Amino acid sequence: MKIQFLLKSVCCLIGSWAALGYADEGRFVDAHVHFHDRNPGDLEKVAAWMQSNNVARIINHPLTQSRWRTEDERKQMIANYAQYKGRIDRFCIIRPEEVSTEEEAIKLLAREKQDGAIGFGEHYGDEKGDNHFDSPGSMRLFAACEKIGLPVMFHMDRSKNLDEKGLPRLENVLKAYPQLILIAHSDWWRNISDGTCGRLLENYPNLYADISCTVGRSPIGRDKAMAREFFIRHADKLLFGTDSGWWSLGNKPPAPEFALIDELKLPKDVEDKICRGNAERLLWRNQE
Ligand SMILES: [Zn+2]
Repeated sequence: MKIQFLLKSVCCLIGSWAALGYADEGRFVDAHVHFHDRNPGDLEKVAAWMQSNNVARIINHPLTQSRWRTEDERKQMIANYAQYKGRIDRFCIIRPEEVSTEEEAIKLLAREKQDGAIGFGEHYGDEKGDNHFDSPGSMRLFAACEKIGLPVMFHMDRSKNLDEKGLPRLENVLKAYPQLILIAHSDWWRNISDGTCGRLLENYPNLYADISCTVGRSPIGRDKAMAREFFIRHADKLLFGTDSGWWSLGNKPPAPEFALIDELKLPKDVEDKICRGNAERLLWRNQE
């Protein structure tokens, strides 16, 4: 009995060390990816992708195409993530038109949180109705996420989550829900040149941004000196992300944001914050 107990303890210790060791491996936490997760074996492919790209932890964001649809898929998805807790975690989505009240949204989101979701996104706004950033459909979801305690990662472009110059609608949401963490992405970065991105990051403690989709689509990729200065100035508010997904599996070239980090030659403390520390503090603080 005693020997069995001892053996069991030693195995447990080795198991925890191995898990901890793996979480420490890798230079990056990728806060923005889209991999399939609802079929058996889906996350094994993701773990292989992580290893080959030096990524220690990821946040997987469902899109309409990859979201679970049936109870069986939901159960399989939960079982898949249970194998990788702390390394592969997920956000969840519901679309604005799926709920007609804040209470309905709270009910669905509370269940998602219970099932392991640690945030909400990628949020595309109300694509079937009013797609302004602060449309009534989106405001309902923001209010529910604030109450449940789920950070929101959002997409913004010329047809989704619309806003005006200076982003007054985003600012309206930041003010209306001060306890809601918002993580900006995509065309949000196009507002860097007129000072809007910097001003909002400085003025609103609840705003963060991930750096996915910056290289080909924003001034970050074109003006490295400006990018370096911006990353250093906002080192506490930026999260590394690549927008990789099921389309990146196989021998596809890595997302350009990996190389961007090398090119910028950031001070070590800044690189550590952007590439790992900020995401771990913001997204995993209640999980460990
Ligand atoms: Zn994305």
